[in-house]
Amino acid sequence: MSFAALSLDTFLVNRLAELNYQQPTPIQLRAIPVILSGKDVMAGAQTGTGKTAAFALPILHNILSRRNVSIDPHSGAETPSAKAVISCLVLVPTRELAQQVQLSIEQYAKGSDIGCVMVYGGVSIGAQVQQLAAGTDILVATPGRLLDLLRKRALSLSQLTHLVFDEADRMLDMGFKDEIVEVLKRLPSTRQTLLFSATLDDRMLSFSRRLLRSPQVIEV
Ligand code: AMP
Repeated sequence: MSFAALSLDTFLVNRLAELNYQQPTPIQLRAIPVILSGKDVMAGAQTGTGKTAAFALPILHNILSRRNVSIDPHSGAETPSAKAVISCLVLVPTRELAQQVQLSIEQYAKGSDIGCVMVYGGVSIGAQVQQLAAGTDILVATPGRLLDLLRKRALSLSQLTHLVFDEADRMLDMGFKDEIVEVLKRLPSTRQTLLFSATLDDRMLSFSRRLLRSPQVIEV
């Protein structure tokens, strides 16, 4: 099975060929069609399985298809694009993972106008406030810093369509549960939520009940 057979946007299929990704990994094969169908997903997948692309590619596909719709059918000209609004939030436990996820998304989106910004704690907040003011489609964030920024009204998540938890078990291990609950209060309830975790134990299942709607469970 190829990436093209997964019905991903040609732009992404070409990017993946340039990156020499020859075929989808098992988690990508199973998760991408379900995510494209709009269902919530709870996936048990370790680092190294290709989990980042498994959520990033269908989300980029969605953003691209919304962009294509905004092209004027008569003149072919793109309608003047307003400042990008955050349509996808990826929550991660650490700065290192934020950097890896952002790097991957930028690689897949290279050559498009899709923007990806990351924010994490332990560094000055001012530059992050400025970056957010410029607008972005995708935000990769650690929960504590995201909450600080939301409290400062440095960003709005009212247009959010996709929420991703990456390494959700580590987020719980690190004590981010309360911050996550606070963030959730500020998100639209109609959204697609994707949870990726190395382990899917009882703790994760009970946590996921607050986040996901009839999720499809995928384990690799
Ligand atoms: P991850 O599990 O998301 O940390 O990805 C592990 C590594 O696999 C990353 O370096 C990706 O660039 C790479 N990768 C992801 N999907 C594929 C694929 N389908 N073919 C080749 N490499 C991939």
